[in-house]
Amino acid sequence: MKLVFATNNVHKLDEVRNIASQYTEIVSLADIHCFDDIPETADTLEGNALQKAQYVKDHFGFDCFADDTGLEVEALNNEPGVYTARYAGPAHDPEANINKLFHELKDKKNRNARFRTVIALILNEKKYYFEGIVKGIIVEERRGTDGFGYDPIFIPEGYSKTFAELGVNIKNKISHRAIAVNKLISFLSNLPK
Ligand code: IMP
Repeated sequence: MKLVFATNNVHKLDEVRNIASQYTEIVSLADIHCFDDIPETADTLEGNALQKAQYVKDHFGFDCFADDTGLEVEALNNEPGVYTARYAGPAHDPEANINKLFHELKDKKNRNARFRTVIALILNEKKYYFEGIVKGIIVEERRGTDGFGYDPIFIPEGYSKTFAELGVNIKNKISHRAIAVNKLISFLSNLPK
């Protein structure tokens, strides 16, 4: 089976390919010559994920899945959530996003947060959703160099290191995206032949 993963993020593509490669051939947007700026204008993770998958289906005709991830911070009423990528503005700058989060959390004792990934799959004209959640805490200073985005400031529950310190091999096994992708794979591998 061949599926398009509607992302331009090479880190995510690598992560998902690592997890799913035994089961499904994952094709990128570049592989199908899609270089469009796919809209992400919904106000929920589910809405954005479906919007991206639907765009590929409508414009390129391929079955497809897309993900959207948000960092939901308890003391900030689950913000930035769907606005995680552009928290500090439209530049999608991870350094500025982290600085803004530190600023908003200044003086807050509750550092609980969770990453939530939603995958929307369009397969044979039907729509499916898969969710992955990892709870953890936001640290006060950046730690580690691996990964991307908010990885240097997030310690997953049960660990004492940030995602960026744990490294991609461990992260790929326990991440929000891994949980959602594993649900997707389990669904795909149980489809009637
Ligand atoms: P996206 O919309 O799924 O691409 O992700 C939204 C935002 O969450 C982006 O700013 C990413 O940097 C951040 N993000 C998504 N997944 C992760 C992750 O696994 N670690 C750290 N940050 C992430």
